[in-house]
Amino acid sequence: MKVLVHGARGSYPTSQENTLKYGGQTPCVEVVHGEERIILDAGTGILQVDADRISAGKRIHILLTHLHMDHILGLGFFRPLFNAENEVHIWGPYSRDAPLRERINRYLSPPFFPLPLRDISCQMVLHELKQGTFAIGNFTIYCEYVVHPGPTLGFRVTAGEKVFTYLPDHEPMLGQKRIPDNRWLSGYNLILGADLLIHDAQYTTQEYEQRIGWGHSSFQQACAVAQIGSVKKMLFFHHDPEHGDDFLDAQVEKMSASPAISLDIARGGLTYPV
Ligand SMILES: [Zn+2]
Ligand SMILES: [Zn+2]
Repeated sequence: MKVLVHGARGSYPTSQENTLKYGGQTPCVEVVHGEERIILDAGTGILQVDADRISAGKRIHILLTHLHMDHILGLGFFRPLFNAENEVHIWGPYSRDAPLRERINRYLSPPFFPLPLRDISCQMVLHELKQGTFAIGNFTIYCEYVVHPGPTLGFRVTAGEKVFTYLPDHEPMLGQKRIPDNRWLSGYNLILGADLLIHDAQYTTQEYEQRIGWGHSSFQQACAVAQIGSVKKMLFFHHDPEHGDDFLDAQVEKMSASPAISLDIARGGLTYPV
């Protein structure tokens, strides 16, 4: 299995000179195993997916953790959606609030977007997800709701013997003070024993103290989560647009996760083997 990071920036895209190394596109990663591919989130990073490799008439799977703008901003500009021969499956969290189609349509319709969803020419199939396991090709995917404002899923993707967990927006420590038993930690079943974990690490500890309840983790908290889950490798993700490349490098140096966990910063444009 391979994980292609197309966008690792949180909240909004940036093109500042000091963010070029880790990239300014918002969340999107592509997971590849043999001939099979799935796309996780549709931030502006989705525009870096090689659309020419997606031949006409192909089935495309886009799994959305949630519908915050930074995770769907690229969806309406993703060329394969405008090919009538393509079957595009969009998977997203169930909400009691409204059906998934109606919630996506709030963005993909005037006045926020020139075309309404019904005028997008691909054959679009929507799937509403709750906690559970499902298969796409040779991927087995387990998803569950996690702590973040609004219905938000985390994904645990298994291919062969390998496990990749994607938790781009996650504030698990919000509940941990009240229920310190790790088995009840948000995302625990998703991270346990993962070979690669992509986890929210938007804030420093000081920044987090000012933003409790906003739905994100500090670098320190991301390390604690990786340790609790005994993951093999973790990539910091959802970089704050105000955190420059040098600043991020310095954070990794400072962190002392367990020596058994290899730590790095997710970098747009890089492929990570799992
Ligand atoms: Zn986000
Ligand atoms: Zn979010």
